[in-house]
Amino acid sequence: MLNKNQIYQAEITGLTSEGNGVCHIDSMAVFVPNTAVGDILNVRIVKVLKKYAFGIIENIITPSSDRVTPDCHISTKCGGCILRHISYEAELKFKYQRVYDAITRIGGIDGSLVGEIVPSDSTIAYRNKAQLPIAYGKDGNITVGFFAQRSHRVIPVDNCLLHSEVFNPIIDCFIDFANKYKLTPYDEKSHSGLLRHLYMRHAMGTDEIMVCIIINGKKLPHEEELCEKLLTVENRIKTIVINKNCDKTNVITGKECRNIFGTGYITDKLCGFLFRISPLSFYQVNRSQAEKLYTIAKDFAELQPDETLLDLYCGTGTIGLTMANYVKKLYGVEIIPQAIEDAKINAKINGITNAEFFCGDASLAAEKLAKQGIKADCIIIDPPRKGCDATLIETVTKKFSPSRVVYVSCDPATLARDLKIFNESGYSIKKITPVDLFPRTGHVESVVLLTKVHN
Ligand code: SAH
Repeated sequence: MLNKNQIYQAEITGLTSEGNGVCHIDSMAVFVPNTAVGDILNVRIVKVLKKYAFGIIENIITPSSDRVTPDCHISTKCGGCILRHISYEAELKFKYQRVYDAITRIGGIDGSLVGEIVPSDSTIAYRNKAQLPIAYGKDGNITVGFFAQRSHRVIPVDNCLLHSEVFNPIIDCFIDFANKYKLTPYDEKSHSGLLRHLYMRHAMGTDEIMVCIIINGKKLPHEEELCEKLLTVENRIKTIVINKNCDKTNVITGKECRNIFGTGYITDKLCGFLFRISPLSFYQVNRSQAEKLYTIAKDFAELQPDETLLDLYCGTGTIGLTMANYVKKLYGVEIIPQAIEDAKINAKINGITNAEFFCGDASLAAEKLAKQGIKADCIIIDPPRKGCDATLIETVTKKFSPSRVVYVSCDPATLARDLKIFNESGYSIKKITPVDLFPRTGHVESVVLLTKVHN
């Protein structure tokens, strides 16, 4: 039996899907964060459960050859870059393995279908979006940062290596403004205080910037002055928005947006198309990798000019619209009303006239479309992390029964679970391509081609 606080020597032999190192001590699995496969180290046990335990690094005896010197001093604290201490090569191997393991173990699918992972051209400054919680710092002044891993303690951000660099002067300007007027940060426990999150987007294809301040209230004092100050430090800002979120919730944005400068949206260029993006609409955070992802999805789809394409969980219409010129008709479905508004406008500004978009839950909307007699030859599915619900898979496989399904997923475990159901419902998995959209973090995206099995 392991004892808490005791120190043991061990070797890290694998990484969990969350990126924690695994070693075995007295035949018990011990999870140790911020380690690399091959590290020989002394581990201090911090928590012992029935079947496994948690430890932290006491000291490293022989470092793994995967290790690199972390280039960010908060990387072990903020919980974002859980792989910053290993080389990018080792990271890609880990991500490939994550997809492979989920596919084979959860999905029961032949692992040889998992193709090579598509690496990212850039591993720094690729994120076009930042949503930073606002809090009091140690000195009593307002600070902006990241929640520490598994906690709601804010760690001040200075020069996050993942973010677009244009965010840094905006952050500083906002902090100065908030401190000048002694504005109060939101406190979750007492549900009081005004400032919740500073949210920014940088459309890297057009160089347009959006700043959105999420507040527990209606109005920010001295809004005009803030606009003036922000525009002085960064003239590429196209819009500044106040988002009201007065709910006791972990959800970052509320439903109401009010523009205090500009039109309330920015426009980006992706795969040669223009996309208007509102604050509440989803948009891939790594634009150049998203282009690769969409190109793979398009190649997998092998669309024909007389075909109908259904894009489920379509966001602002990005995937479907980049394929609309290859088909007769495109339908898109998405639950966020602003995203559907964006999608309709995105069709217009790109001169696409064969697309229709519907707002609603993917399952219910797909069911409704099927009832209306709409047929689909190919269906794209790009759900959030929790994956599809079983009724949606049933509607897709039984009611639409398209010859191809292209599944784009940001979570290997729910993807594998869903692929298993597709497999049992008459679809065979043809190829799986992992794509690294989120370098240095533990997340990995995959694109999968499924085809209908003809009896
Ligand atoms: N395909 C888009 C968006 C993918 S992200 C793109 O590549 O940009 C997943 C999208 O699913 C988000 O826009 C989210 O708002 C939407 N969504 C979440 N739950 C949904 C549901 N139950 N029904 C329909 N859409 C949903």
